[in-house]
Amino acid sequence: MTLWRNWAGTVTASPREVVHAGTVDAVAAAVTRAASAGLTVRVAGSGHSFTPLVATDGLLLHVDELSGVTAVDRERGRVRVLGGTPLHVLNPALQRLGLALPNLGDIDRQTISGAIATGTHGTGMRRQGIASAVCGLTLVLADGSTLTCSVEVDPEVFAAARVGLGALGVVVEVELQCVPAFRLHAKESAQALSRLLPRLQAEVDGHDHVDVLWFPHTDRVSVKRNDVVGAHEGPGPLTPWRARLDDELLANGVFEATNRLAAALPASVPVVNEVAARLLGAREFADDSWRVFCSSRRVRFVESEYAVPRASVGAVIGELRSWFERTRAPVPFPVELRFVGADDVWLSTAFERDSGYVAVHQYHRMDPAPLFAAFEAIVAEHAGRPHWGKVHTLGAQRLRDLYPRFEPFRAVRERLDPGRVFTNAHVRHLLGD
Ligand SMILES: Cc1cc2nc3c(=O)[nH]c(=O)nc-3n(C[C@H](O)[C@H](O)[C@H](O)COP(=O)(O)OP(=O)(O)OC[C@H]3O[C@@H](n4cnc5c(N)ncnc54)[C@H](O)[C@@H]3O)c2cc1C
Repeated sequence: MTLWRNWAGTVTASPREVVHAGTVDAVAAAVTRAASAGLTVRVAGSGHSFTPLVATDGLLLHVDELSGVTAVDRERGRVRVLGGTPLHVLNPALQRLGLALPNLGDIDRQTISGAIATGTHGTGMRRQGIASAVCGLTLVLADGSTLTCSVEVDPEVFAAARVGLGALGVVVEVELQCVPAFRLHAKESAQALSRLLPRLQAEVDGHDHVDVLWFPHTDRVSVKRNDVVGAHEGPGPLTPWRARLDDELLANGVFEATNRLAAALPASVPVVNEVAARLLGAREFADDSWRVFCSSRRVRFVESEYAVPRASVGAVIGELRSWFERTRAPVPFPVELRFVGADDVWLSTAFERDSGYVAVHQYHRMDPAPLFAAFEAIVAEHAGRPHWGKVHTLGAQRLRDLYPRFEPFRAVRERLDPGRVFTNAHVRHLLGD
């Protein structure tokens, strides 16, 4: 019997045991009990990964009851939060403290531990992924003991465990370096892809956060430029009716309808995409950072995303465009481009590399395989590093070449989990044993 499925509905699992642990002691007890019974353990966040990282036939451990802010250091702008805290709980809690995470992805449904485990990121060349905001972590290890690490204490574990794939232990608490709460001025407009590409890098450097959506088979992109403004600067937030129209109707309701049409009539995709691109018109507003970064995504899809050197994004898009022209592949979802600064987290997709992220999506009722295979072949030529939570086929042999600290990561894993309690078939494929 299927007891767990991911958000996209593409990964299912039938674990032997399912535990919702509400305290650190309960986590430790569940892990030691499973380990002594010879069961492997996977921890579930909100199930928003497209890869089978969470799937298990052993113990599936939920930490959703481990939620909330446990400590605040106002002087340093740091908070400690429990590992299962969802971002949609964390963001308003930080706002009430006058704080914010420096950058976020485009939804807030993930848990903090799930988000960092796969290197979840937003966009902004002067910012990094969410794991870079982590300044301390507490893990429950395979033997039931706890380990707290930071840049000062056990720095190797800290470098490994921020993007840890759930392969080192259960993250029960995370310390975050926040920034003062800030406001973003959002400007969104449509543009021709062919005019944007030659000046893409200048756009990226000219704004705090740039996000581009390109509709395949068209020359149309929607460009979102978000810039930090003072507390009383910029226009007001979207009026409630406009927010509802944009997010509920256009981004979800109408978009679901255009995707259903595309699934029923694949030949209509170029026209459907032209219409969808035109619906994403211009808008301008300002609001709290997390309200601007995150929106709701209810149209189901599957996604593959790779990080490439930022300078390679134009070439990747050119090759993808040629592929779409050659194959006329029906893909009604936009290709998304984002940009993030280099960081020092060993398995971060932006490790020591200013990165451009290219993401391809397919509606969940349509076959993603041809698109994902072609995309993977293109990004392979640009030293592409796959998002750990999004569909890809790379295994340890290739990942070792892409990540200079791959072997040190494996060494930390050998130290923390020599009996391979925190594993499954996908993790073995990724890490080589
Ligand atoms: C609609 C949608 C939008 C998305 N937008 C973005 C985006 O803007 N940017 C981006 O980078 N990604 C994005 N993603 C991907 C998503 O952020 C990642 O897949 C993320 O890992 C999901 O977090 P989760 O809480 O659902 O974790 P899950 O998917 O449940 O788990 C992910 C990994 O974290 C591990 N894990 C979870 N909790 C713990 C814990 N307490 N201790 C140890 N390990 C743990 C799991 O074992 C697993 O390995 C999106 C996904 C969807 C479906």
